Amino acid sequence: MAGKSQPMRIAVLGASGSIGTQTLDVVRRHTDKVRITALAVNASTDRLVGAAREFGATHVAVGDPSHRSDGILAELPKGCDATFGPDAVRALVEQPDVDLVLNALMGSAGLEASYATLRAGKKLALANKESLVVGGDLIMPLATHDTLLPVDSEHSAIYQCYLGENPREAYRIWLTASGGPFLGRTRDELASVMVDEALAHPTWTMGPKITIDSATLMNKGLEAIEAHHLFGVDLDFIKIVVQPQSRIHSMVEYEDGSVIAHLGVTDMRIPIQFALSCPHRWATPCPRIDFATVGHLDFVDPDPETFRCLALALEAGRVGGTMPCAMSAADEVAVAAFLEGRCGFTGIDQVVEGVMAAHGSQPVESIAQLEDVDTWARERARHILHTISR
Ligand code: MG
Repeated sequence: MAGKSQPMRIAVLGASGSIGTQTLDVVRRHTDKVRITALAVNASTDRLVGAAREFGATHVAVGDPSHRSDGILAELPKGCDATFGPDAVRALVEQPDVDLVLNALMGSAGLEASYATLRAGKKLALANKESLVVGGDLIMPLATHDTLLPVDSEHSAIYQCYLGENPREAYRIWLTASGGPFLGRTRDELASVMVDEALAHPTWTMGPKITIDSATLMNKGLEAIEAHHLFGVDLDFIKIVVQPQSRIHSMVEYEDGSVIAHLGVTDMRIPIQFALSCPHRWATPCPRIDFATVGHLDFVDPDPETFRCLALALEAGRVGGTMPCAMSAADEVAVAAFLEGRCGFTGIDQVVEGVMAAHGSQPVESIAQLEDVDTWARERARHILHTISR
């Protein structure tokens, strides 16, 4: 393991995405403390090769095997091995020169990588939502407080608000939401919003899927399910509040009425870096907050009747078992359809609701079982899309 003199060796999965590139930027600033030995992307071999050369990686993996013969791969650094396909990404985490895996993969491929990471006894810095939303019942028995470190800003905030405290003395978690670009709109107004409006997030810069999930508030429901697994609390222990400036990244309220909040600039490099530095703190990767310029902080109750995806996700979390898997797969299909203009904005929650109504939840037993539910839910979602498409 990494000591004082030896940098921690990390694998970055999903290195070309939003979290991945911001992780590379954090590492660039702290090369004395952390070194990238392994990189994985789905398809962006040009960015993969660029990063492998810059950081001197020894292993790279490409999830989509059709990129095996990309010419750019000839420019990988000497001694760097390249492997292809979903199994290759999973095998990367088991390499002996990897101490920590930062998992920023998209979708359900991330669950398998998380599972393999913890099984291999490595630390997991988790940015992949499906790992806990879909596979929390499989992942959490393998994890400890020191081996599973959340990267998402809210969960990093909650983790930090718990540090040094007795979790049994916590009264509730305040999970903050920005409210997205459509805060205050009516259901009728939502039906006609356009893709570019939904992609214009007011405070955070993120990939398209999570940006749409933020606009529907589905993302907040997914985060509540993640927090329920991560911190071992019931969903009703978690209270969601809209904080439109996104200055407060979440809070923990204790029995005595004290509320500990995590505040800061809206820059994902801070929680990414904390997942690497924990329990220590390294020099900030971004400009500091100036409270004199923050102005006011507002708090608003979320509206789950207008933003149906929030209500549906919380319901899936309460039902548990394979229901969050069906819900999440349906959402992925519906968001892709919305981005491609195949359904309206409120079509997203119609699809999710239809799939959930048709799913009989079972206790989670295996990744293979979750894959079957995922396949079934996607087919069902496509069928519902045909019936509602405009
Ligand atoms: Mg978040």
